[in-house]
Amino acid sequence: MVQTGMPPQKDTKDAPEDAGSSQATADLLADAGHATQESEFFNPIPPGYQKGRHKYVVVLGTVMSGLGKGIFASSLAKMLKDKGMTVAPIKMEGYLNIDSGTLNPYRHGEVFVLDDGLETDMDLGTYERMLDQNLTRQNYTTSGQVYKHVLDKERHGGYLGRDVQMIPHVTGEVKYLLRDLAVKQNADVVFVEVGGTVGDHENAFYIEAVRQLAFEEGEGTVCFVALTYVIEPPALGEQKSKAAQLGLKKLLEAGVQPHIIAARAKNPVESSAAQKIAMFSNVPLHRVFSMHDRDSIYTIPDAMRQAGLDREVLTMLDLHSRVDQGHEDRARTNWQSFVGKLGGERKYKARIGITGKYASLRDAYASIDKAIEHCGAHLSCDVETVWLDTTRFEPDQAGEKLKDLDAVIVPGGFGHRGTESKIACVKYCRENNIPYLGICLGFQMAVVEYARNVVELPEAASTEFEKLSEAPVIDILPEQKKIEGLGGNMRLGGKDVLIQPNTLASFLYKPDADKPFTIRERFRHRFEVDPKYIDELEKAGLVFSGRHPKQPIMQVLELPAHPYFIGAQFHPELTGRPLHPQPMFMGLVAAAIRQHHRDTELASINNRWLAPAKPSSAKVQ
Ligand code: GLN
Repeated sequence: MVQTGMPPQKDTKDAPEDAGSSQATADLLADAGHATQESEFFNPIPPGYQKGRHKYVVVLGTVMSGLGKGIFASSLAKMLKDKGMTVAPIKMEGYLNIDSGTLNPYRHGEVFVLDDGLETDMDLGTYERMLDQNLTRQNYTTSGQVYKHVLDKERHGGYLGRDVQMIPHVTGEVKYLLRDLAVKQNADVVFVEVGGTVGDHENAFYIEAVRQLAFEEGEGTVCFVALTYVIEPPALGEQKSKAAQLGLKKLLEAGVQPHIIAARAKNPVESSAAQKIAMFSNVPLHRVFSMHDRDSIYTIPDAMRQAGLDREVLTMLDLHSRVDQGHEDRARTNWQSFVGKLGGERKYKARIGITGKYASLRDAYASIDKAIEHCGAHLSCDVETVWLDTTRFEPDQAGEKLKDLDAVIVPGGFGHRGTESKIACVKYCRENNIPYLGICLGFQMAVVEYARNVVELPEAASTEFEKLSEAPVIDILPEQKKIEGLGGNMRLGGKDVLIQPNTLASFLYKPDADKPFTIRERFRHRFEVDPKYIDELEKAGLVFSGRHPKQPIMQVLELPAHPYFIGAQFHPELTGRPLHPQPMFMGLVAAAIRQHHRDTELASINNRWLAPAKPSSAKVQ
């Protein structure tokens, strides 16, 4: 019998009070599956989960946001991947949005689209580039997604009559998510990046979940990394570690003892600051890593290796036996060759203009910036990017703005503002043989410009801006929406594009192709070329060299008589990788080099991009 006011008597095996005392109890909890009225715990384990097989590195931020947790996590993940291990990163965002699709790039940086169509934040781009690996919706979550899942499950009776609580249910779902990712992506190591800063309300349940995960999985399975910030007030001229100490203390209060600290700072962290950080957070000095500002994030993996960080993680997580030395040597050689080019002297120069509404915020175009950085390194070109805010100049000023540029990109965008000036930029590039790359909106603007000024349809427009246009060359096409079968009306994610041989596009992607071939690129748009104008546009000289394999959706355009004029309805910047630079960007940077050095003989250079064989129908100068 249970006395009133007393806790029920239980067999000690089931007693939550004893749960913390032994590994065996933790195992038992883990095996318990869904909670019932008899258990205080909720700890479902995905089928096929092998305890001890999967390890975790959890990266948390203290002091302030924006420290580069994603950069740290992806650099460390890359080092383990290079050693032959399978890594699976996951970014856990604190905000309540279900995805990043509705976020303003001013506040949040660009929306990065995964191959499976999920709209995520720009950090996923960093992971894909650093790891040279496509990610999926399993590699990203938000508090909104977690809560939505919990609420939907509650409505379907998934919690078996229990009152649904932050702990154990929400935390239990988070742990499930992480373990499920480990199983589904067969990960040796899952890299968990907790968004925001320790102390935020939004991410507190994530931190509690990873704390529990570490406890349940046992010693040697979860490695906690804390990013922190060392201030260097200009008036003092020395580094101060107090904010870092306080931030780390907050993490300790949450029950998490970090194993590694990455101290962000403007300059290399001095030993006095590092010692204080080590001392006040119980982390040995050799695991306090100075992550100071650098010219390129791609040098971080090498800096980590020099600091011995990868070996520390291997030891902590008992992973030495999984290292494939040959794999690591090969991966390192490739990476170092790229980093060498990145830091080396550049032979050429080029100035590339990028038009855009968010020109004041580089993060809004992070992937474009990176795609250019990769190509600059591969082509030994010092590329200067010039940001042009088209909302701040009139169409008739375009020539003045562009006259000193060697190439122009009109990137993706939404809304009417600045579009007339973008169209004027396209016209200037087309008429003056300035290399041009139009991305998504930039592709559509090129179609509108060509229709207005070459096909002589002066009313040509996109119905995104002019609903009642008499020549809606760019339009929403409902029948195509039906064919695509999308839930929303945005066409999202990776899709096949059929490329015609003997075109500039085929020269860029597959120079030896003699028949049509497909490439896969990522889309994020609602509007497209209205098929009824295709014939007219093509007769006037515009070539649609890339199309949907089955439907009349135009995906790449080019102008054969121009040195480099190409547009893509997709976003080529999203698939640019350091070791696999994106072909359309390579072509653009090469064309910009030729434009910049037009008075110098470059033909002697033995480089496919700079001294290319001409494709028969599309000249590459
Ligand atoms: N606004 C255009 C559309 O929806 C272009 C989108 C974009 O550039 N990503 O089709």
